[in-house]
Amino acid sequence: MPMNRRMRVAAKSPTLLERLKRRGWRMTAQRRVIAEAMAGAHVHLTAEEVFARASERLPEISRATVYNTLNELAALGEIAEVALGSGTKRYDPETVDRHQHLVCESCGTTRDVHPDGESRLALPASERARFTLNRVEIVFWGRCPKCAPRREPDLRGATR
Ligand SMILES: [Zn+2]
Ligand SMILES: [Zn+2]
Repeated sequence: MPMNRRMRVAAKSPTLLERLKRRGWRMTAQRRVIAEAMAGAHVHLTAEEVFARASERLPEISRATVYNTLNELAALGEIAEVALGSGTKRYDPETVDRHQHLVCESCGTTRDVHPDGESRLALPASERARFTLNRVEIVFWGRCPKCAPRREPDLRGATR
């Protein structure tokens, strides 16, 4: 329901930093800048990007610390590893509000989205090859407003 979705977004889920404090994760200066590097909405950073952001605040932080910490957070389930078609693993700190992704195939801008009908999406037994299903990842590809050339017909072929 769209209304529920808007309400859920309004009642923001706790940030990564808040969740880590709550679970009693030992908060060193290094771990803090890594968590802070992933603050905000629609954040999907590569390990290198997290390292670059963390280094701005804490220049002595090592790449190995960043990589190890990201692996640890992923193992704890506090961040999700997402594959968004670039071949480079990205880290998503929004693990409370279940969502899918909308990606600009030109500049890579990525937004968290909540597709209609997702809850009804099913893989019939005949397609499942007796796999046990754990999760579904949906990526919507397109062009963001900055990258979309003007006057291009949209996917329905409508002309303006
Ligand atoms: Zn774009
Ligand atoms: Zn996301």
